[in-house]
Amino acid sequence: MLKKDRYKAFIDYFSEHQPNAETELHYTNPYELLVAVILSAQCTDKRVNMVTPALFERYPAPEVLAESTSDEVFGFIRSISYPNNKAKHLVGMAKLLVEKFKGIVPSSVNELQEMPGVGRKTANVIASVVYNMPAMAVDTHVFRVSARIGLTSNAKTPLATEKQLVKYIPKELIHIAHHWLILHGRYICLARSPKCESCALTFFCKYFEQNHLKKSKKSSAAEIF
Ligand code: SF4
Repeated sequence: MLKKDRYKAFIDYFSEHQPNAETELHYTNPYELLVAVILSAQCTDKRVNMVTPALFERYPAPEVLAESTSDEVFGFIRSISYPNNKAKHLVGMAKLLVEKFKGIVPSSVNELQEMPGVGRKTANVIASVVYNMPAMAVDTHVFRVSARIGLTSNAKTPLATEKQLVKYIPKELIHIAHHWLILHGRYICLARSPKCESCALTFFCKYFEQNHLKKSKKSSAAEIF
């Protein structure tokens, strides 16, 4: 199957079946999403959603968080992975947000990356989810699933994956395609053992074509002989 046909099948399938896919992080404004995404690095959205209600109640705005200390923030996020670093990042992010951006989360990926705890992936999530910009955030799920399906080839880094995906996915669909890939990786195309038997993408998935179809061809040949 040609790559452009794989992309078409991918877009057609998800446009029909998950037209409203969105982040599973809970938030009510861009500041809260930024906090939640920083916390979600190397951590599940489910766990992040468990700590953010109390955190947002105590720090309802960046101005309040900027006045806090990392020690105090630590108390709210101790059950999250890397709580020490993340507490420092949150306070640092809030300070810069208030001092440089008047408390308004910027839409520019470069400006977002100036903030502590905000790498390219987090910046792309904010740009796409908050501002609907054609930014593809590549996390472990997006990296793995797009390679397995065959949307990317020989992409060795998240940046290489991002570049290949944005080249083929229409601009207006990039922000939602990010959620399609993440959700598919989280629930079906699992890292250790993808649930191919219950996956609807087998008809265009390269991994399935190379692993399952070849095996079944071999076993039919073995039966013949
Ligand atoms: S067929 Fe298997 S490898 Fe391909 S996307 Fe589905 S679960 Fe992942």
